Amino acid sequence: MEKFTQSLTSPKALNDIISRHGFSFSKTLGQNFLIDRNILDKIIDGANISPGDNVLEVGPGVGTLTRELAGKAKDVVAVEIDKALMPILEETLGDLDNVSIVQGDILKLDLYDLIARYFDDERFKVVANLPYYITTPIIMNFLESGVPVDSIIVMVQKEVAQRMAAQPCSKDYGALTVAVNYYSKPRIITKAPASVFMPKPKVDSMVIALDRREEPPVLVGDKELFFKVIKSAFSMRRKTLLNSLSNLEAYTGLTKDALRSALNACGIDGGRRGETLSIEEFAMVTNSINDILKKD
Ligand code: SAM
Repeated sequence: MEKFTQSLTSPKALNDIISRHGFSFSKTLGQNFLIDRNILDKIIDGANISPGDNVLEVGPGVGTLTRELAGKAKDVVAVEIDKALMPILEETLGDLDNVSIVQGDILKLDLYDLIARYFDDERFKVVANLPYYITTPIIMNFLESGVPVDSIIVMVQKEVAQRMAAQPCSKDYGALTVAVNYYSKPRIITKAPASVFMPKPKVDSMVIALDRREEPPVLVGDKELFFKVIKSAFSMRRKTLLNSLSNLEAYTGLTKDALRSALNACGIDGGRRGETLSIEEFAMVTNSINDILKKD
């Protein structure tokens, strides 16, 4: 097949290819395509891809990022939900023999099956300019599912990146921060204004890398309880920790008094707000509640 030589970050080339294929952008699928070479280079640099790497891309669009990834990696698998993009991807990527396109919804595909089929169960990196309407479920699914992902380098809405990389006590610190930091180490790579996309989204963006941790930074006896504690601690930010955690009664069966004892036992003041607790302190609270549950 003939080599594809056009620059897909050129708005003219992009307009030309989509109009030849009669393609129109779908807002509901979060279709904002990258038209900035500089940001494309920053994503690729941030992903730090070696020639032996397997890369999974979510939402290749017209294949702009995919072509660059293919030039660096061993194998690239790109999962795209929109059937209308298939003929375009055939044209833009058909000359590359280390790229496979899978038509489907990344949230519905069996990730283990995908990794077995395309990467022989080897480790892989996720690199993507994510559709913003499902950023968090996509990232959490990769982190929680247990698939052998080494790092996730993604363009996301600026506010989401700031929440993932936030510090305790800041306004952006929340349940997402703690969950992401449990599995990975976030590092912001670059900001990207709306003007780097066609069409322009209403929000600014950031590229963030999540480097998967070998081991979680804290030891928790009951992971499900840990995430319930975090969720309820942040559910009502104006409430004290003790009052927020009282919402857990239906789950743990523990009264407010029992919760107070659990907090006292680990030396955490129930009058603090959830957003002041570090991940280590959330683990201490979880383990303390767990100790009481085990005694009952
Ligand atoms: N990678 C391209 C780029 O940088 O120009 C396109 C990025 S665009 C922000 C997001 C892409 O994700 C679109 O191509 C969209 O069709 C695709 N997409 C949306 N929802 C998806 C899903 N659930 N599974 C897989 N792809 C999805």
